[in-house]
Amino acid sequence: MSSFTDELIHRLAALREQHLFRELRQVDSAQGPQIEISDQTFLNFSSNDYLGLANHPALKAAAIKALETFGAGAGASRLVCGSLAPFHELEAALADFKKTEAALTFSTGYAAALGTIPALIGKDDVIILDKLVHACIVDAAKLSGAKLRVFDHNDLNDLETILKWSSSRPRTLSQSPRTLIVTESIFSMDGDCAPLREIVALKEKYGAWLMVDEAHATGIIGQNGRGLADELGVSDQIEIQMGTLGKALGASGGYIGGSRALIDFLVNRARSFIFSTAPMPSTAAAAMAAINIVQSVEGEQLRSQAWHLANLLEHSVAASGGTITAPESLIMPMIIGDEAKAMELAAKLRAQNIFVPAIRYPTVARGAARLRITLTAGHSATDVAKLGAALAVTQLAAPINPP
Ligand SMILES: *Cc1c(COP(=O)(O)O)cnc(C)c1O
Repeated sequence: MSSFTDELIHRLAALREQHLFRELRQVDSAQGPQIEISDQTFLNFSSNDYLGLANHPALKAAAIKALETFGAGAGASRLVCGSLAPFHELEAALADFKKTEAALTFSTGYAAALGTIPALIGKDDVIILDKLVHACIVDAAKLSGAKLRVFDHNDLNDLETILKWSSSRPRTLSQSPRTLIVTESIFSMDGDCAPLREIVALKEKYGAWLMVDEAHATGIIGQNGRGLADELGVSDQIEIQMGTLGKALGASGGYIGGSRALIDFLVNRARSFIFSTAPMPSTAAAAMAAINIVQSVEGEQLRSQAWHLANLLEHSVAASGGTITAPESLIMPMIIGDEAKAMELAAKLRAQNIFVPAIRYPTVARGAARLRITLTAGHSATDVAKLGAALAVTQLAAPINPP
């Protein structure tokens, strides 16, 4: 026992030395533009609750109603007797929202990726990932046993080079090898968009399949917040659409959207779906209420307020003499580079009661540490001006060494 603990203490010390040690902070309030930590109130620019739905009365009411009707726990996996009505209603609403034939929900977005990719792809196949895809996609790709190739972030030439190689592989007697491209539509730590139209054209040219993770676009981008694929008119050409119910939709869970055949297949083959207790039915009911809100006039107002604040932040930083990239989403990172420096800047902001996380390896590459700022509909123009001024001062004080 003691040698086990000693070993872990040793490993933790190494993390601390590299400024990569992480710890939990207890939040004593509901999620929102302001949060309470250790009896202090912070302006919160770190949440993915972009539209402020996590604590919205309609989501809470829907969850309470489902809790009273269907209880706290689902009692079993979906395929046994846990497939309670709220999951089916949510999946129908998701398919309608995403304009896909069908949809399937998972306990998290992470579980959706982990169940879906290995169900569809095996060791004779190839998976091609954008260099910046989320950890759940990397883990799922590894779990599939397929050959992995990574293309430079949003680099179509690099992607095409790999597709050429992949499509020239010899066929086996039994089966032609599959190639799956996976990308995000809005990248979680950079906030930029993928060139989805061009990627769709390439995957059609080389006969590959495409999976797009819309975690940070769903609810935010395009008409009714349907996402970037819909906005760019390529939704029908994407074999596998993925997303989470835990960001703009304010609840929790993950989903896959696509053809009826895809969904039927996943019900039969996605291990994270099959061998796991169904989520709380109240969570599904909350997500369902969120899908109704994002498609309503209120949803439109929340989105336009959030976008307005993102533009305001860009101007506010500029007015104070700093720079930040123009918003392509509600994620606006300020790249710092050095891990220790990013930590120090986040601490300086915290000292002003502004909560912005320093994102470090392994979430981003080593030497690419950043302040990851997210804006939400619940912030005010005053909040954003305060952040803009604080960031500019912080940035000007920091030696910027980009990755
Ligand atoms: C957050 C996130 C996920 C995981 O979704 P969860 O529901 O939080 O498990 C997947 N992909 C991307 C791009 C994400 O940002």
